[in-house]
Amino acid sequence: ALRPAWLEINLARLRDNVALIRQHAARSSARPPLLLGVVKADGFGHGAVEVSRAILSAGASHLAVAAVGEALELRRAGIDAPILVFGQRAPDELADCVRHALTVCVNDAEIPAALSRLASGQGRTVKIHLKVNTGMNRYGVAPAEAVRLALVLQALPRIELEGFFSHFVMSDAADPSFSREQLQVFRGIVAALAQRGVRPPLRHLCNSGGFLNFPEAHFELVRLGLLPLGWLPSPHVPPVAGLAPVMTLKARAA
Ligand SMILES: *Cc1c(COP(=O)(O)O)cnc(C)c1O
Repeated sequence: ALRPAWLEINLARLRDNVALIRQHAARSSARPPLLLGVVKADGFGHGAVEVSRAILSAGASHLAVAAVGEALELRRAGIDAPILVFGQRAPDELADCVRHALTVCVNDAEIPAALSRLASGQGRTVKIHLKVNTGMNRYGVAPAEAVRLALVLQALPRIELEGFFSHFVMSDAADPSFSREQLQVFRGIVAALAQRGVRPPLRHLCNSGGFLNFPEAHFELVRLGLLPLGWLPSPHVPPVAGLAPVMTLKARAA
């Protein structure tokens, strides 16, 4: 070490936090959602492998990362839970996604068609989650195009349209109005999909702020990054009683 200073990561506290979050979810929704732990950026600097193992052992069922390389690190460590990879894939990343049973986010027809061909070649099925852009403007199919695209995806061989999701822009803000608009757009597409017989079993919209502020938006799954680590995203969310930071910075005093 360069200096007598270090970070301590308390994995027991992490497991306690997940238990508290699950209790919170059970109190706020009649059918509590599954928990997906977002462990991108090396688990927000806490160690992705260790954090993943701890949150899965405490009852989370899914993981998500932002890059294929991050997902492969988890697979190499022996983690076989479902892993969703956020964002846009490049064509040369798809073979690894199929081989390592990663769940791929999609917002067009080209990447899924390529996945379908690769999966057929490998004798596998690939799970995909269709993302709709309800306001974040970073990634996602336009709401007006979502149903048409979902019908195309659902017809692809060896592709399972498991998820349908979106992302809140400011679910931790004091003013809930934009989040409510996003929820309304999301619900509208869910209904339109159902009318056409498309019912992805995992619908998800909430990050940590959304989870705390909008219990009506929990659907089947919530994607939590900061919260299990013991951080609240802003002062404008109801706290979870007992939640505490997992990371402590320590240094030896001179
Ligand atoms: C980072 C991220 C999350 C987690 O957000 P938190 O506010 O840390 O809970 C959820 N969903 C997506 C798409 C993300 O990129």
